[in-house]
Amino acid sequence: MSKTLKDAPVLVVGAGIMGAGIAQVAAQAGHSVQLFDTRDGAAEQAKNKLAQTLQGLTAKGKLSAEAVAQTLSRITTITALEEAAGVGLVVEAIVEKLDAKRGLFQQLEAVVAADCVLATNTSSISVTAIANGLQYPARLVGMHFFNPVPLMKLVEVVSGLQTDAAVAAAIFELSKDWGKVPVHARSTPGFIVNRIARPYYAETLALLQEQAATPAVLDACLRAAGFRMGPCELMDLIGHDTNFSVTQSVFEANFYDKRFVPSLVQRELVDGGLLGRKSGRGFYDYANGVTTPELEKVAPVQLPTTQLLRVHGQGPVADRWAAALKQAEQVFLRVPNSDWVGLGVEGAQLRLTDGRTATELGVEVAVFDLPLNMTSGATLAWAPSLHASASWASGAPQWLAALGFKPQRLADAPGLVVARTIAMLINEAADAVQQGVCTPDGANAAMKLGVNYPAGPFEWLAGWNTNAVVRLLDALDLRYRGERYRVSPWLRQRSHQETSV
Ligand code: NAD
Repeated sequence: MSKTLKDAPVLVVGAGIMGAGIAQVAAQAGHSVQLFDTRDGAAEQAKNKLAQTLQGLTAKGKLSAEAVAQTLSRITTITALEEAAGVGLVVEAIVEKLDAKRGLFQQLEAVVAADCVLATNTSSISVTAIANGLQYPARLVGMHFFNPVPLMKLVEVVSGLQTDAAVAAAIFELSKDWGKVPVHARSTPGFIVNRIARPYYAETLALLQEQAATPAVLDACLRAAGFRMGPCELMDLIGHDTNFSVTQSVFEANFYDKRFVPSLVQRELVDGGLLGRKSGRGFYDYANGVTTPELEKVAPVQLPTTQLLRVHGQGPVADRWAAALKQAEQVFLRVPNSDWVGLGVEGAQLRLTDGRTATELGVEVAVFDLPLNMTSGATLAWAPSLHASASWASGAPQWLAALGFKPQRLADAPGLVVARTIAMLINEAADAVQQGVCTPDGANAAMKLGVNYPAGPFEWLAGWNTNAVVRLLDALDLRYRGERYRVSPWLRQRSHQETSV
């Protein structure tokens, strides 16, 4: 059965932040839209607010007065669901409670035609569970928008066990008509984005718990890797209560799989009412607005001319060292078949992290983080071995500074911050793919469009190396001996393939 919703009249139920945005997008795409909310006057208020917003855009020259008038004329507010008997699509954006959503859809089945598509904007409830009890469960599908709806391009089209593939396909096409980028997802806890994104927060929270660095340093490292906001400032913006409850719901929904254990650091903030920007304080203090804390600065050395230097390993980092040394007319040797990547300075080593700590690797050793961003001035984490001499502990970062990086010292934590965060995002995405939640392309699109990641997890994997990712995760697993760092069977399988060719 193929189905088109192109010209279908739409009912949006719930006129809160999401419902209002969905009504706007549907009306702008030419649909006639009815808006309903059980709270007295809420639908009218939402429409008035939308009128103000759109007129504001007209004043700025971004939207014609005619387009605004047309959009608004397509939206009507209703006070009883029965008025929506003729719609071809319902999009539900009410309170995030299973009973309320089930009750609403059961009530709607008594009103709308048998072929009307029912879509839920739930961000965390099982689509399969919402459909349970419906007369026609095959027509219920998830249509998960992101906030703010008019700006965020991603729509997760979520199929439950009973969702008809033709219904999911129709919502997929409709989302494109609405100017969105849809991605198919299977109904599993967190769907795609809210599941794969967990390690972005969790790894930083784990590093904070073990006192590896300050929020400002961790944020700076991940911003340098291309993320628009570091995890701490992002959690402060989202609100720790909201972020914590998503983590908790993914944890519970996965039968308390330790991979998803929430953080004590974040619970402490929630318990203390330090919810982030909205309460004036979270990781950062917003009493004086949003400010960026100052970080430690390391002056670069002049590359010396007398030392015995070796560039170990292959790839962009090794090439960068070699180019910099060549430019400084420095004599050095390349050791391309080394089992590590980095710089040997007489007896000392400055190594790209492979998941083992510098201390595990030796005495005159320092490790540095995965440099996803090779541009000059990019912040890069590093850590010396606990046993390193004072001269190597102060010398190592200068070699990074000499390459143009802004080195930031962390405690000697395995995988530092960017390497372990990216490896864990890849690992979670790999599990999602193996479990049929989404395709690799779907995961890439979802993370770039749903949470503005600079690249998708499988794009990072393509630019890295499956064996190196698995080795890093195994080292973390060995160090922490929990379930959090267990390697996805999907990745493990591919790392074997790489080894055997
Ligand atoms: P909100 O609190 O701003 O709005 C919910 C609205 O639904 C309220 O106006 C409320 O009066 C109304 N409502 C509650 N029960 C109702 C019922 N039985 N019938 C009709 N109206 C009812 O919430 P929101 O942030 O817009 O979220 C709505 C849904 O969208 C939730 O399922 C949420 O999980 C999901 N969602 C939210 C976001 C987000 O960032 N806020 C993102 C994606 C999905």
